[in-house]
Amino acid sequence: MRTAKLMRPKTIEVLEEPLLSSPGTEEAIVQVKAVGICGTDLHVFQGQRSDITYPLVMGHELSGIVVDIGIGVNHLKIGDRVVLDPVFSCGKCATCCNGHANVCGNVKCFGVQMNGGFQDFIKVPADHLYVFPERYSFEEAALAEPYSIAANIFSRLTPKPGENMLLMGAGTIGLTILQAAKAGGCRVMVTDVVEEKLRNASAFGADYVVNSKTSDLQNEVRRFAPDGVTLLVDAVGIAPLLEQCIQFAAPAGKIAVIGFDDTSAPISPAQITRRELTLVGSRMNNHKFPTVMEWFKSGQFHPGKMITGKYPIEEIQSAFEHTLYNNANCIKTIITF
Ligand SMILES: [Zn+2]
Ligand SMILES: [Zn+2]
Repeated sequence: MRTAKLMRPKTIEVLEEPLLSSPGTEEAIVQVKAVGICGTDLHVFQGQRSDITYPLVMGHELSGIVVDIGIGVNHLKIGDRVVLDPVFSCGKCATCCNGHANVCGNVKCFGVQMNGGFQDFIKVPADHLYVFPERYSFEEAALAEPYSIAANIFSRLTPKPGENMLLMGAGTIGLTILQAAKAGGCRVMVTDVVEEKLRNASAFGADYVVNSKTSDLQNEVRRFAPDGVTLLVDAVGIAPLLEQCIQFAAPAGKIAVIGFDDTSAPISPAQITRRELTLVGSRMNNHKFPTVMEWFKSGQFHPGKMITGKYPIEEIQSAFEHTLYNNANCIKTIITF
């Protein structure tokens, strides 16, 4: 079988490897059909992550067909079209037992801290696999994972219909959050510094788009929502945007943070206290694939419109390079098998 390995920063080689052995108890073998390239993969590709070991098979946004199942697998059968929840935790610690597996001290993401999906076959615990609705293609279904990020943010923010949201950043994750917010009946203002990304946001239903490089954001927020924005998401994940989210939040506002920026933002306790703000973190997803499958069934989500490039596995190196150097025009690049 073919397996694409990141041998060292910026070098992926497609190698031939022996087929996998039979699945063990509660395991399944999936023939991979489509895998998305994520921002995380691009960081790993460039050698910007210290928590990985080479060679590494990347890829955590994937879909495929179940081709073999082990003993004790009851919810799947051979031939099922499935997506994979890539969040692997210990399942035993207090954090896991209390229902927060995505922030387990030993949490791993498939394709980041363990080998992932850029290969013909994977053997995985079957309880990480979810059958996706018939109407979606493998390419579309591979986007379930970025939608799970949005689903997790929503479980943290609990938005109500009619609420105003300020969404900072119209990248891939920003667009999944936008679709979820619109499906949930929110009004959404989207900011970015790249015009192409703002155009994407408009196409995905943003009520108001603002280029934060050329506009006075404070004024624009007031114009969009005179009574203030109560939901704020920093979908870029950098300290200055967290600071702005706190600045622009209405009383009783909720702010979601998803970034891994280690630099600090100057935030005073008074800013949080005076308006009784809520600051929530959201990491990967905590068993949110069932929610995403419900979203997909509703027909209100358009993963297909997010796919801007498709490459066969043999061309994975150029797919990564193209995605990296054409960031403004790429929403989601898919590797096919
Ligand atoms: Zn991802
Ligand atoms: Zn744990």
